[in-house]
Amino acid sequence: MAMSYGPYVDSELESLIDRIHPPRVCIDNDSYQDCTIVKVDSANKHGILLEMVQALTDLDLVISKSYICSDGRWFMDVFHVTDQLGDKITDKNIICYIQQSICSSRRGSTQLKTSLSKEIRTNHTSMEHTTLEMTSTDQPGLLSEISAVLAELKCRVSAAVAWTHNTRAACIMHVQDDSNPGSIMDSHRADRVQAQLVTVVDAHHTNHQRWSLRLTGPTTGQTHTERRLHQLMMADKDYEETTYGTKGYETIVTIENCREKAYSVLNITSRDRPKLLFDTVCTLTDLQYVVFHATISSKGSVAFQEYYIRQKDGHTLNSEIQRQAITRCIIAAVERRVTHGLRLDIRSRNRSRLLSDVTRVFRENGLSIARVEIGTHGERVVGSFHVTDACGHNVDRGMVEVVKKEIEKLGGMVLVSSESSSNWSVDEPSSNNDEEEQRPARLSLGTLLWSQLERLSSKFHTLNSQPEKRNKSSEIIISPPTSPHRRSPSLSFRCHSSAGGTINNEATMLMPARTRLFTLRISSLLPSSSSSSLPFALPFRSSISHSAPPHHVSATKTPKISISDTAKFVRTVLFIPPGTDPEEVTDDMILPGSNIVLGPYVGDAKVKEVEFMGSSVRPKDCPKDDRPEFAMLGRSNVGKSSLINSLVRKKEVALTSKKPGKTQLINHFLVNKSWYLVDLPGYGFANAPESARMDWSSFTKGYFLNRETLVGVLLLVDASVPPKKIDLDCANWLGRNNIPMTIVFTKCDKSKNSKGQRPDENIKSFQELVKENYKIHPPWIMTSSATGLGRDELLLHMSQLRNYWDN
Ligand code: GDP
Repeated sequence: MAMSYGPYVDSELESLIDRIHPPRVCIDNDSYQDCTIVKVDSANKHGILLEMVQALTDLDLVISKSYICSDGRWFMDVFHVTDQLGDKITDKNIICYIQQSICSSRRGSTQLKTSLSKEIRTNHTSMEHTTLEMTSTDQPGLLSEISAVLAELKCRVSAAVAWTHNTRAACIMHVQDDSNPGSIMDSHRADRVQAQLVTVVDAHHTNHQRWSLRLTGPTTGQTHTERRLHQLMMADKDYEETTYGTKGYETIVTIENCREKAYSVLNITSRDRPKLLFDTVCTLTDLQYVVFHATISSKGSVAFQEYYIRQKDGHTLNSEIQRQAITRCIIAAVERRVTHGLRLDIRSRNRSRLLSDVTRVFRENGLSIARVEIGTHGERVVGSFHVTDACGHNVDRGMVEVVKKEIEKLGGMVLVSSESSSNWSVDEPSSNNDEEEQRPARLSLGTLLWSQLERLSSKFHTLNSQPEKRNKSSEIIISPPTSPHRRSPSLSFRCHSSAGGTINNEATMLMPARTRLFTLRISSLLPSSSSSSLPFALPFRSSISHSAPPHHVSATKTPKISISDTAKFVRTVLFIPPGTDPEEVTDDMILPGSNIVLGPYVGDAKVKEVEFMGSSVRPKDCPKDDRPEFAMLGRSNVGKSSLINSLVRKKEVALTSKKPGKTQLINHFLVNKSWYLVDLPGYGFANAPESARMDWSSFTKGYFLNRETLVGVLLLVDASVPPKKIDLDCANWLGRNNIPMTIVFTKCDKSKNSKGQRPDENIKSFQELVKENYKIHPPWIMTSSATGLGRDELLLHMSQLRNYWDN
C-alpha cells in the first residue's frame, strides 16, 4: 500500500516550526541509578534522529537503550546513556555540550564552539584541509604507499580514518600542504597529487577490481567522517560480499510489513558494540528510509533494534529484492566497524611523514592494517591502528615488540592496548568469563587511558591549588581538556631530576598522573655509605596531602624476625614512603624481611572487625563509597586465603571467598569500617591450558584500571617455589599499567622445596627477574601464614599507604 509521507515538504515551514518550537533537551541523572537519561523533543524533519544520535556518539557515549517516536510532525526520543566506563554523565561541560549540540545541529548553528570555548571533533568540520577519499580492495601496504607518496609530494596527513570490511577498504584522509599548512590551494598541484595517487592505486588493482580515489577541497556542510565512510563503503558495494555474520555472532535482520499502519518493521539482533545505533541509523537515513518508531535495547552482549520505517516517498518495503538489499546493507553497516587485530595506540609529536613512517614499519614487518583512526591535536598526533598478520590472524607478541621498538625509534609512543583480537569476537568464550560474555566490548586500554587522563586532568585543579603540598622535586602540568571528548586532554609532566634536569618523555606523558605525584629517591643499602640516588615515581595512589601526618611508629615497635643473609642481600633498594628523607633512613626504620621503610604516615594497624560486603561480577558493581582498598592477587594455591585469614584473624572471612561461585568474583571485606580488603580471583590453575590461565584478566584488569579507590595491589608470590612466569607476567602487567604493587612473598617458613632452593633464594631470583623489567623496584615483604611472619609488618605497611591515600 502506498502512503504519502508528508511532514517535510516545505523547508521554510520547517524552519518556522523550528523557531516556534525550538528543540528541548532534558538531561536527567536522577531517575535511574546506572545511566543518564537524555530526552529530546523537537519539531520533526528528515535526518533529525541521525543528528541526535551523532551528537551523543561523537562524545563516545554509550547508548544502552532508546525509545524513538517521530510520527506526525513531532519528534520525541529518550536515550539511556553512560560514558565508556559505564558511569553517568555528570561533567557539566559534557551536559552543556549535549544540550547545545543537539539544539545547534537542529538550527544549523555554529555558536556551539564559541559558547563552550572548546573545540569538539574539528576533524569533522575543519576547512583547513583537502580531503582524500578512497575505496579499494583491502591490500596490505596500500595505505603505506599512499602515505609515502603524499609525503614525497610534501603533503601532510593531519587526520585519517580507514576501515576494512569484506575484502574492501575505505579511507578518508585530511591532507595539508606541508610548507603552508592548510588545504592545497593550487588546483594544478592538487591535480598533480591526485594523478600520482591514482597511479599508485591503479597499480595495485587488476582491470576487474574496482577502486575509487578523489581529492576535494574544503566545502561547507561537510559530511560527518564516519557517516561518509559508511557512504563510501556502501557505494563501493562492500555489502555484496557480506557473509551474514561474523563467526559465532550472526547479525539477524528480519523485515515484516505492518499493513494497518503501513510501516515496514525492521528487526536487527546483533552483538552489541559502541556506535551501533549510529551505524544503523546512518545507513537507514542514507538509504532514504524514515524512522517513525524505534526501540533499542541490549541484554548482556546482544543488542536488539526494532525500527518502524517507510521509504522517504512513503512506501513500505514490498518486494523481496528491496528486502534483501536493505538486509545486506544493514548487516554490512553493523559489521563494518567490527575490528580485528591488535590495537596499537600511538602518540607522537606532529611532523611530516609520520603516517608514512609508521605504516612503513607495519608493511616492512608484514602486518596488515585493518583499521586506522589518527588525528592531530595541536603539536601531538594521536592514533590507533588495528593490525593483523598478512593472513588476518593475530600478530605474535615478538612481532609486536619489534614493531613497537621501531615506532618508538621514530619518536612515537606505543601502547599495545589489548591482547584480544576483535572488539566483537570472543574466540573461546569461557564460562568463567562472565564480564566478557555479558558486556559489549566497550573498553580497550587505549580508551580507558584517555578517559583516565581526562578525569585526572579535570581533577587536577584541586591538586594544583595546593602547591605547597607538593614535593618540590616533581611538577606535573595538566591542562584541562580542550574538549569533553576523551581523546583531547592536553597533558604534560615535568619531572625534575635531583640534578635539576627535566625529564619529559612520552612514556611519562602516557602514564596516569596520580601515581606520579612525587619524585622520590631510592637509595642503595649496600654499602649504606654509597647511597646512590635515582629519581622515581612513588607507586602510590594518592589524593596528595601532607597535612596532619599520623604518628610515627618506629620499627622498634614491631616484633623482630630473623631474615637470612640472602634476604638481606636482595634488599638492594628501599621503598621510601613520602615524607621520609632518604638520607635519614636508619636500619630500624626498615621493616624486617622487606625493603619497606616506615614513614610518618604509619598509623593504627590493628584489625578490630571485618565484614563481608559482597561479591561483584563487574568492577562497576563494586562498593561505591570512597573507602581505600587493597586488592589481593595471586596464583591459585599461593596461600591467599591463608594470608587473608592470618591478616584478619577470622577463618570464615577467607572461607567466604572460597565458597563455590565466589572464587571468580571480586569479594569485598570491610575492615574496621574504614577500608576494604579485596579478594580477587586466583589465576593460573596449574592444569589449565595457557589460554585459560589469564582468563581472570578480562574483568580483573578492568578492575585495576577503573578502580579509583585502589590504594595498591598485594601481589602474592609463593616463595617456596622458583619464580613462575605467570607471576612475573602479572607483576610486569601491573608495572606497565602503573598500578601500585607490593610483592608479598608467601610460605616463607618452608625450608626447602624439592628443587633444593630455600625461600630466600627464590625471592632473590624473583627480584632479579622483576628488576629486569622495573626501573623502580616495588616494595616487597616476606610472610608466612603458618608462623605469622610478616603479618604485622604488612599491616603497618598497608596503614601507611592507606593514611597517605586518605589524607
Ligand atoms: P589459595 O588457593 O591461594 O587461597 O591458597 P590457600 O590459602 O588455600 O593455601 C594453599 C595451600 O598452601 C594450603 O595447603 C595451605 O595450607 C598452604 N599454605 C598457605 N600458606 C602457607 C604458609 O604460609 N606456609 C605453609 N607452609 N603452607 C601454607
